[in-house]
Formats: sequence, structure tokens, C-alpha cells
Amino acid sequence: MNEIARRFYAERDVRTLQYGADTTVLERPVALLVGIDATGRAAQVAALALVNMLARVHRRLHLVVPPADLQARALIDAPTLADALFAMATAINPVLDLTTAPMSASIPTNAITIGIGTDLPDELDIYLGWNGGRGEIAAVPCRCPSTGPEEHILGAATAACLAAAMAFRAAHGSTIRPTRLNLLERTADADAGTTSRTSPIDVGRVLVVGAGAVSQALFYWLREIGVVGTWDVVDADLTELHNTNRCLGTTAADAGWPDALPNGEQRHKASITAGLTGAQEHLYWLDTWPDLADAPRYDLVLPLANERGVRAEVAALGQPVLLHATTSSNWTAELHRHIPDRDDCPACRIPTAPTGSFLCGTGPAIPTTLGSPDAALPFLSAAAGLLLASALLELREESRLITGRQNHWRLHLELGHRLWQSAIHPNDGCPHTLPPEARQILHTPTPGRWSTIDPAM
Ligand SMILES: [Zn+2]
Repeated sequence: MNEIARRFYAERDVRTLQYGADTTVLERPVALLVGIDATGRAAQVAALALVNMLARVHRRLHLVVPPADLQARALIDAPTLADALFAMATAINPVLDLTTAPMSASIPTNAITIGIGTDLPDELDIYLGWNGGRGEIAAVPCRCPSTGPEEHILGAATAACLAAAMAFRAAHGSTIRPTRLNLLERTADADAGTTSRTSPIDVGRVLVVGAGAVSQALFYWLREIGVVGTWDVVDADLTELHNTNRCLGTTAADAGWPDALPNGEQRHKASITAGLTGAQEHLYWLDTWPDLADAPRYDLVLPLANERGVRAEVAALGQPVLLHATTSSNWTAELHRHIPDRDDCPACRIPTAPTGSFLCGTGPAIPTTLGSPDAALPFLSAAAGLLLASALLELREESRLITGRQNHWRLHLELGHRLWQSAIHPNDGCPHTLPPEARQILHTPTPGRWSTIDPAM
């Protein structure tokens, strides 16, 4: 490795190493082979998302991609799928050791091998598949249907998250665990059905607080799934190079490191995130944002930040429902619901100082990550964003997401025995939630689209 690459990785991979990654393992090649029967839009969404995640962690990628016009929306536009994959991977990591070859040529020795499609060599390590909203990884080739592609986008996206997680685990010595997952149903393995949604996400006027990794993953998926309505993103933070290890919309140049050297200008996270779907950026912290007083006009507020007491501040907006997603240092991606009076609030559920308030053990996977709440990996953020996107696809007053008692779902991406865990956090005297009368005064004059979810309305 030359000096430029050494310096780039030292700066970029801080959070990855805090999560327990082994640098020599990150040097192990990962090969992705796309079959000629897997070039439809859903397959392209899977291939692009997977390479996006791999390039943020692994340092040697080998791509085998058949000729196909680009049909996915892609981070970087290009005429063909192969061009889009190469342009994106090198923009994310300018010092990536990136190779390609025809299908028949040999793949690098000792590579973790991943396949999309069925027209592929036998004995690859991981194959992706999907059916409707169900994504899958397996040790044998899986079906990757491309008819009625919109129906399969969610499953293909889910398969990409699973494959990125499994590749990282496999590179560190884990055996391949065949896995099926449906994020809309919040089911796994034998229970996972093919429920899907084809319509674009349509939840009205939305305020997104925070433009970090989970927020950016949400917008990355919104771009591929489709979204309508007015969306605002508020965040004053600038992009650092170590953010590129997990922020799906961010390139090295966005962090001020074009050509792997710190010679450029850092872009605002809100600009990058909002730019993924054409949303409106607001370069403020929530507590200094002059337009915050107008917050009741939003149909939905998504609190995706945690600094500066933002969770308590959002809880006090009196919204009829808050949905958000998080990652943890225990290999989880988590979905949260907060309905006033029924559920606790985001500040009570996730206190700023760690107090171990969860129902189950939360000991970190790696002892050295204690005190490293920012330790993270791209597939955790990607899965959290996709989990939230799925919740937005599901959102209806009568959906199980709203009517059910469960208000917290954990997805365990260490891919052990059990993938899902749900919990019920009741409102137990939360000091942040506005009283019912105050919420009525705020929302009765101009009820938002989801107002009647609030039990006081
Ligand atoms: Zn509270």
C-alpha cells in the first residue's frame, strides 16, 4: 500500500476498526459476479447497493458484470450498469483496489465470492435472491425475478444488506448463514413471506431531523423505491472522511478528499442527503433553525439525530406519531415508534448518557468499543434506513405498525440464531411529551395527515 492509501485508510476507517474489524481482513478481496439473467432493475438496485456498502469497508473488490443499460437510479449516473458500479466504487474510495474480468476468467485467490442471478459458477460463497418484499442470501443460487420489477425492489434491497453483512462476517471467519428477511412484515427465515408494496412512499409533508448515516440510507432507498411529497432535511454538520465508511450517499470528494487527498471542500451532510431525492436542505441545528416554530405544519417528523438534546426537543413538538431508526454497537438495526400517551418518547427510550435501559443485555460485541457510540458499519445504517423506509411504505392509521402494542423492533445483523426481537415501551410518566390539551391546541386548527393517530385527537 502506498503512502496516500495508508493515510486515507487511517482517516477513513476509524469507526470500522472501533467496531472490531481486522485490517488484514479488510485487505481480503471480495468478488461480485452478476449473472446475465440478473440485469433487470431490481437486480441492479441490489448490485449497486451491495457495491456501495462493500466499497466503504473492503479494500479490494473484483466485479464481473454483464453488459446492460443502467435501469436503477444509482448514486452516479452512467450509461451502463458496469460504468455506474465502477464510477460509484472509485468515488467512494479513490484508492480502492478494483479489478474486473469476464465471467470465465479466474477470480482472485482467497476472495469472498458473491453472486446475483442463477447463470453463475457453482460454489460461490454467497448468493442473493428475492421474491417481492423478501430478500434472501444462501449458499446456492437463488431466484432473482425481474418481471414487475417494482414489486421486487424492497426484497432486492434487503438482500443487498444481508449480503454485505454476511460478506463482512464471512471475511472475519463466520460460516454462511442462509437467511430470509422481510422488513415490511418484520419476519425472518421460515416465517418470511413475500408481502411487498409497489407504490412510491407517500406520507405527506415530512421534516427529517439529522442527515447522518441512517438518514442518508433512508434517502438512498427513497431514491430507488420512489417518493412523493415535500421533504425538508435540517442538519448543520459537515462531512468528515470517517463518515464515508457508512453514509450511503457520500463520496470521498464530499468529505473534502477528492483523489484521496484532503485538498477539497467538505459538503454539508444535509446537502448530500437532500440531494439524493431533490428534498430541501436547511443548514441549521434544530435548536437554531428559525423555521422550527412552523413544525406543526409537517405531517410527519423523523428524528434521525441524537446530539444537542434533539430527541427531547422533537418529543416536545406534539406530533401524532414519531418514527425513527437507529443502529447499535451490538450489530443491530432498530425501528422505533412513539405515539404520545401510549408509547415512551425518543429521549426516554434512548437517553443521551448510556444507562442500559433496554430490556435485554446490551454488552458491546467488542470490549474496546465501549465509549465508541459512533462505531458503525455501512450495512447496519443501510438496514436501519431500509427498515424505516419499509415503515413509511406500511404507514396507515389501521396498519399493525400503528395499532400494535409493540413499538420497538431490533434486527440482529450478526446473523445468529434469532433475527428479530420486539419490545413494548409504555409511556411511564415521560416528562417530554406535551399534555393532550396542548397537542389539541397545536393541531386542531390545521390537522395533519396523521393527526388522528394521536389518541387525544
Ligand atoms: Zn420522554
